[in-house]
Amino acid sequence: MRILVTGGAGFIGSHLCDRLLADGHEVIAMDNLRTGSVDNIAHLAGNSRFRFVKHDVTNYIFLDGPIDAVLHLASLPSPVDYLNMPIQTLKVGALGTHKTLGLALTKGARYLLASTSEVYGDPLVHPQTEEYWGNVNPIGPRGVYDESKRFAEALTMAYQRYHGVDTRIARIFNTYGPRMRADDGRVVPNFVCQALRGDPLTVYDDGARTRGFCYIDDLIEGAVRLLYSTETGPVNLGNPDEITILDLARQVLTLTGSDSQVEFVTPADARTADDPKVRCPDISRARRVLGWEPQVPLADGLGRTIAYFRAKLGTGQQSPS
Ligand code: UDP
Repeated sequence: MRILVTGGAGFIGSHLCDRLLADGHEVIAMDNLRTGSVDNIAHLAGNSRFRFVKHDVTNYIFLDGPIDAVLHLASLPSPVDYLNMPIQTLKVGALGTHKTLGLALTKGARYLLASTSEVYGDPLVHPQTEEYWGNVNPIGPRGVYDESKRFAEALTMAYQRYHGVDTRIARIFNTYGPRMRADDGRVVPNFVCQALRGDPLTVYDDGARTRGFCYIDDLIEGAVRLLYSTETGPVNLGNPDEITILDLARQVLTLTGSDSQVEFVTPADARTADDPKVRCPDISRARRVLGWEPQVPLADGLGRTIAYFRAKLGTGQQSPS
């Protein structure tokens, strides 16, 4: 297949490019490099089946030749980013989804939307199944991200129903691993970088909120299985191994061997406004239709992520064996 990956220079997008190339496809990565980085795709530079196009997908997309699949990953999924760039967040979720769906329609391509567990908001159903409609505050600071993705899902379904586009919707839960930005603001890079630098680990409020953390390799496996499948409804992709943020901090301290302390802080900005108290994917559908479930235990995935940030930050210290 000849595949377009928007957000192809980002964390998940670049890993997806690697996997699609390994599967024998031709890949065009598109990114405006607002939060993505060419460092994430530099290793693909000599690959004749890979091409990078710098473009903002909220503007009209013109691509020559056939396209068999469009994977819309371009997004600003970090709370820090969407608080700093609220209008770009809405635009890439709404206008970017419109442009990429339009391209898929023109080219007769299959379409995969990277949606999010944020469509469930601060959930009143736990764990979250795909049938749950969510509990989102449309006018809160997180609304710019949540509502753009809810709109993106609605638009994707409209293109499926009205235009017959062959669509997929991946609802991606918290994912972590190499190529996240050190300053991304999300909890795993924050804690790992804080631990490696010997800084306090900033646990927001009381650290009792819960998440399940999916290692990037597992997520990519789920995403490509969904792309190759015939499943047109939304599918949760995430790790149901739920832990508190305080426990995550303790694990990071153990695995890095850091002397850092845990510091309970209440951010002065809107970072924790409407922050979901609990989140855990029900992955029954992914198990059933994709035969997929995460394989990488948190300690292993964190170990690989710590090694990545150690090299990136240039902290020579070794992990305890
Ligand atoms: N969090 C934290 N300290 C940090 C960053 C995040 O305690 O330095 C918390 C945050 O309040 C949330 C959880 O960790 O409850 C996960 O946050 P993240 O930004 O990684 O992703 P989210 O699940 O909110 O999209």
